[in-house]
Amino acid sequence: MAESQTPIDPREHQTALRQLSLLRDQRVNLDKQLKVAATRNDKLVQALESARGDILRLKQAISQDLEAPMNQAQVLRVNRPVRSGASLTGDARAVAETQASLDVAMGGRTVRVPVSPVLDIDDVRIGMSVLLTETMGACAVVGYRPTGEIATVRELLDGDRVVLGTGSTTQTVALRSGLLDDVELSVGDAVAYDSASGVALEVVPKTEAEELVLEEIPTTSYADVGGLGEQIEQIRDAVELPFLHPDLYREHELSAPKGILLYGPPGNGKTLIAKAVAKSLADRVEEASGSAQNLRGYFLNIKGPELLDKFVGETERQIRAIFSRAREKASAGNPVVIFFDEMESLFRTRGAGKSSDVETTIVPQLLAEIDGVESLNNVIVIGATNREDMIDPAVLRPGRLDVKVRIDRPDRAGTAQIFGLYIREDLPLDAASVAGHDGDRAATVAAMIDAVVEDIFRRDDQRRYLDAVLADGRRIPTYWNDFLSGALIRNIVDRAKKLAIKSFLQTGVKGIAGEHLIRSARDEFDQQRDAASRADVEDWLKFLGYSVALASLERPLTGDGAPQGLAVEPTRRGAAAGRGTAS
Ligand code: ADP
Repeated sequence: MAESQTPIDPREHQTALRQLSLLRDQRVNLDKQLKVAATRNDKLVQALESARGDILRLKQAISQDLEAPMNQAQVLRVNRPVRSGASLTGDARAVAETQASLDVAMGGRTVRVPVSPVLDIDDVRIGMSVLLTETMGACAVVGYRPTGEIATVRELLDGDRVVLGTGSTTQTVALRSGLLDDVELSVGDAVAYDSASGVALEVVPKTEAEELVLEEIPTTSYADVGGLGEQIEQIRDAVELPFLHPDLYREHELSAPKGILLYGPPGNGKTLIAKAVAKSLADRVEEASGSAQNLRGYFLNIKGPELLDKFVGETERQIRAIFSRAREKASAGNPVVIFFDEMESLFRTRGAGKSSDVETTIVPQLLAEIDGVESLNNVIVIGATNREDMIDPAVLRPGRLDVKVRIDRPDRAGTAQIFGLYIREDLPLDAASVAGHDGDRAATVAAMIDAVVEDIFRRDDQRRYLDAVLADGRRIPTYWNDFLSGALIRNIVDRAKKLAIKSFLQTGVKGIAGEHLIRSARDEFDQQRDAASRADVEDWLKFLGYSVALASLERPLTGDGAPQGLAVEPTRRGAAAGRGTAS
């Protein structure tokens, strides 16, 4: 079957031919490019193969190196690679090299060594030991040395350095190791110190004795103690004179007291005074010697009951450790106060204690240690107790704690003085009160203090606190001020400050006002009443000369605290030791 064909348009034919020739040209081009690429590929393969050879040779060299004995060195400084062309300033100039390097301590010398490519510099920290190849390249990290001397942190310097006490008299500046990077070091921490490299390696947990003995360099001075002027004078005379003039004492054949016993109800400044003794002695000795020796007073705070809470024999070991520590500190010329809190727990009258340990071994050992204090002038033992009647009289014999000072609850004047230490005119004060005193801030504070002291010392029904019921049935009322203490005054002030903040946030009126103090006093006594202890009341009764035993403590009988006077009012609870009948 014949089909009719359309004749080809000659112009279209021409176009098709041109396209064909174009395609042919392109193919030729592609062929050429392929050839070039193939040659390049060959070269690349060659290059890779030669690199592989290099790597193998390098690997072999390294493994040979690793088999050879290698030196170890401690890293003192990590010098990271500095990119060439980077602008170099200051310290960086010293490490202006493109390769990473380390400054290491090795055999007493400091050496700068290159870092081998097999070691990632980011893994290296100060204080680490690194292995050095035969060619002295650092090639691996070994870690930190597990050993070192024990040293005590004395001061934190800027950057990576600390001042360490490495003996009783020697101090040294050390580098902080990488292990201490994220550790918040504090003065007094024990660290392992590598003296060969001068690096403080790591914090060493405190030994039990160290935990027991809270050691501090007190900053409290006599000026921080309110209202105990006479007692402080007595203590200074007893302690500072012989301390400052040992020759005169020797000449007059007087022996210096080895210690003082501070007794009286808790929270009235016994600890405060003991700290002030340590600081003041250091200051006076420094003054007297006229040289800037930077003496410090040390305060070793020993909690009696915690010390006793040990295995048989352990307490004795701890006591030895405490006194030997005091000796170590004192040998450098620093005055040391060994403070025994709750001393009656350790020096209990022999025959009165339930633990025979205390009587048979602990008291004699403590006495022996106190007797041994003489040879080391710089140590003073201060005992604190609120039960001096329970203390073994042997402790109080001449040549031991022969100065006995009662630290009493504050009287009116003392109370005002203590308030004055905690409310000062530079604190935010109620503007209206200040205006009421013609802008005189000091007068404003004085008036606020007068008012709150007046309020606390009022002995009326509202301030009736607890009734002491005696074994013979007598009921003795007590009032707020019978239970006042320095600690309580401080609490009142803190409470008033919080009230002032709260009222500022609520009303926008800023500053401490008299009414904040008065309200806080009431709240504080209310709260303390629940925690009042028999010992406190017994102490108070003894102080007033009552010899009859306390049978119970009761809240005033009527709900609103109506007066009960001194009426004989036998208690329904009899001699129960309970805290009384809450109304
Ligand atoms: P104590 O050793 O007699 O039990 P502290 O000396 O530890 O009492 O006192 C506890 C706190 O109460 C002190 O840190 C201080 O804030 C405050 N304080 C007690 N007495 C006074 C005082 N006489 N002067 C100033 N503050 C005092």
